[in-house]
Amino acid sequence: MEVDVEELLRSYQLKITPQRLSVLKYVTGCQYAVSQPELERKLGKKIDRVTLYRILTQMEEKGILHRVHDLHGLARFAICSSNCQAHMHHDNHIHFQCTICNNVYCINNFSMPKVKLPAGFIANTFKVSAEGTCKHCSQ
Ligand SMILES: [Zn+2]
Ligand SMILES: [Zn+2]
Ligand SMILES: [Zn+2]
Repeated sequence: MEVDVEELLRSYQLKITPQRLSVLKYVTGCQYAVSQPELERKLGKKIDRVTLYRILTQMEEKGILHRVHDLHGLARFAICSSNCQAHMHHDNHIHFQCTICNNVYCINNFSMPKVKLPAGFIANTFKVSAEGTCKHCSQ
């Protein structure tokens, strides 16, 4: 997925900074949701830990990135779908957790099951997750 990260920052009224650009470039270039420790390892020379934390939190609040927890409770970040807004995430896709490499993948081309809720219950989001072997580990 090719994403114009500068345009993305602009559309969310965020100032374009080298740090924000490198975080977004890394996250959008990954096929799986990226953890903060991985970002620290890859971008540690350019961004200190506090700044990185602040960038991730801010992008989550803005609706640019969403947070997923892997099987070990580690937070991972992935790019949002375009209908996410500030404080209102609508990432209606499934998260696939690989039990071998522990990576979490956003699976977008998956139609969410229609769930019939009891009267009076209104769901804004559904969280569906699957566990198994990812395409890299199953080869
Ligand atoms: Zn989102
Ligand atoms: Zn895997
Ligand atoms: Zn996701």
